[in-house]
Amino acid sequence: PDSTKGKLLAVYEKAQLFYHHILMNTKAGEAALNYLIDRGITEESIETFKIGFSPPQREALKMYLENENLDDVDILKKSGLFSDREDDKFYDRFTNRILFPITDAKGQTVAFSGRIFLENGDQQRRTAKYMNSPETEIFNKRRILFNYDKARPIIRREGEVFLFEGFMDVISAWQAGIRNGLATMGTSLTEEQVHTLDKVTDHIVIAYDGDSAGLQAIKRATEFISEETHFSIEIAAFPEKMDPDDFIQKKGPEAFKDFLAHGRDTLMSFLMNYHKKEVNLDNESDQLKYIDKVLSELTRVTSAVEREMYLNQLSERFDLSIESLKEQLHGHIISSQ
Ligand code: ATP
Ligand code: MN
Ligand code: MN
Ligand code: MN
Repeated sequence: PDSTKGKLLAVYEKAQLFYHHILMNTKAGEAALNYLIDRGITEESIETFKIGFSPPQREALKMYLENENLDDVDILKKSGLFSDREDDKFYDRFTNRILFPITDAKGQTVAFSGRIFLENGDQQRRTAKYMNSPETEIFNKRRILFNYDKARPIIRREGEVFLFEGFMDVISAWQAGIRNGLATMGTSLTEEQVHTLDKVTDHIVIAYDGDSAGLQAIKRATEFISEETHFSIEIAAFPEKMDPDDFIQKKGPEAFKDFLAHGRDTLMSFLMNYHKKEVNLDNESDQLKYIDKVLSELTRVTSAVEREMYLNQLSERFDLSIESLKEQLHGHIISSQ
């Protein structure tokens, strides 16, 4: 293809092969490879996800591409694989990072996300843990879902998709046998991504990190998803300070699969736990706030049986009549219309 897009894809294809080769077959890639193996990533996964390593030299990729006759300066600049300096020279954007190729729906590499790996070294203090390619004509991070190309048939088969926060979570889950997992590009879920999911499934399981940032992100994602669509949503809420990858490393793949199969919360029970953390339920004024908040969330539940279930829970927990709870719920329903 002679188009700019075609040329950019060709550059990314070559870059991916180059970085993967450096990781697997060279002395320069040894430390990075050991880091991945130590984290439990198998060689098979490294092949499947075509993981690579960008060496520390600032012109390694540039020289390689020039040797391959990919020397169209305009295209190289547009690729985002290089950064401009004041003078005419430009340098590799990624140095000394483990690179995860980001693929489009056809499986073509359109970007990289690069992770530093010297956990306690200089690099850790100076730079961000992950760095992504900039947006280009072939990479729009609002549209891309990591692992979509490989997961799509499995999402269809399983009838559901797992949404993770990080690439490492997707890859670890994949190794554990959960292959219908995706991740966003370190951003919150977008309309475009939800639209893509809509084409393949109607059931989303959110499996974000078990830290407060993760909880916030789940809350936002559930609001966003239920505003836009008719997906059914469940939450796999991981223990505090654990992400899915940590969980697998610590408890093993079988415990992980068991948790994803049987440890899910409904959206409503997630929200009830979430709002509980905002209040002190020993205090009556907080109790009222909490009950009112839960009732306002309950307006999103359309199943009569499910509503009844949570009304019963509130009724028992706070020793209130179902009738008064229903009355207040209806007040919320009316004001939300
Ligand atoms: P690891 O286990 O390797 O530390 P992680 O996936 O647990 O990585 P998190 O810190 O939980 O990393 O972040 C989740 C995701 O957010 C990452 O996979 C990455 O896509 C994105 N991300 C994290 N930090 C950054 C950053 N500094 N810049 C851009 N994206 C980031
Ligand atoms: Mn996180
Ligand atoms: Mn994480
Ligand atoms: Mn992690």
